[in-house]
Amino acid sequence: MKTLIDRLGREHALSRAEWIALLRSRDAETARYLFGKAREARRRYYGDDVYIRGLIEFTNCCRNDCYYCGIRRSNTRASRYRLTEEEILACCREGWAIGYRTFVLQGGEDPAWGPDRIAALVASIKQAFPACAVTLSVGEHDRETYRRWFEAGADRYLLRQETADNAHYRLLHPPELSPENRKRCLWDLKEIGYQVGCGLMAGSPGQGPEQLAEDFLFMRELEPDMVGIGPFVPARHTPFADQPAGSLDLTLFLLGLVRLMLPNVLLPATTALGTVHPRGRELGMLAGANVCMPNLSPPGVRDKYALYDHKLCTGEEAAQNLQSLRERMASIGCRVVVARGDHKPR
Ligand code: SAH
Repeated sequence: MKTLIDRLGREHALSRAEWIALLRSRDAETARYLFGKAREARRRYYGDDVYIRGLIEFTNCCRNDCYYCGIRRSNTRASRYRLTEEEILACCREGWAIGYRTFVLQGGEDPAWGPDRIAALVASIKQAFPACAVTLSVGEHDRETYRRWFEAGADRYLLRQETADNAHYRLLHPPELSPENRKRCLWDLKEIGYQVGCGLMAGSPGQGPEQLAEDFLFMRELEPDMVGIGPFVPARHTPFADQPAGSLDLTLFLLGLVRLMLPNVLLPATTALGTVHPRGRELGMLAGANVCMPNLSPPGVRDKYALYDHKLCTGEEAAQNLQSLRERMASIGCRVVVARGDHKPR
């Protein structure tokens, strides 16, 4: 398997059969070897710098009904909230003062936050903080809407494909959502000029090496600027409440593989990774990640953006605790930097 890893590091691509073989034979020794190579690749582009993003979860109202998600429409137990423009700008002011230069606006697909309202919000954030980057993560929309937001000043967009395997996509989503539209959105976003992030949940129900191989082939083709990978974590009051969580080891392995395939990608050690292991974030960096997205939402709503159970939102997860994040990163030889942290070209 080391020969496949070496080749991935050299050629940045594998065939479907090779991906499946590599994913099937994952073990501790292969992982150690992979992580060493992944760290080398990360250093070539980003050194030991860790970029931070202030995550503002501005609405947990959603018109969609994804089977895995704790804020799905059918979950009547979710306590719904929406931040106002003023509350969001207050988060940005606070974040800017502590050193955040990217704000990620993430939310459900909330009809109360229509295209005009989001465009105006983006414009007012960029007006108040011209040197910041704004990342949107608000789901599937038409190309014109994405274009409006880009023209309003949005720099980046996060939309995980969730799975590139069409049958697997249908297993995770209700019939009104389609894998074709999900992928169409990603291609539109790229064409418009966003820095684009895709990604998936490691260990989601029904996922095996065959499904993951499709994800790698798809990501090779899309060439995203960012890839978000965290473990699936079951959420109560959802159809997948009793499914097992994705493992730390699988998540780390996938991070390492993505780093070798797309060496200059921006790769976060996600909140979900921190949730399944107390040192998840550090282990993510050691597997090739270089981004952290602490929570900048107002403390009063943080626990309500419950995509899954036991989601972290305090401690190092809180954007305000930058000092402890700095120390944790320093303990593994990484350095938190104050910068927009844009994608570097190859
Ligand atoms: N509405 C936006 C944002 C979704 S939330 C969108 O559609 O893109 C961001 C990510 O959280 C999702 O893309 C999904 O991959 C992840 N997520 C949702 N439920 C999860 C769960 N139970 N475990 C782990 N990750 C989950």
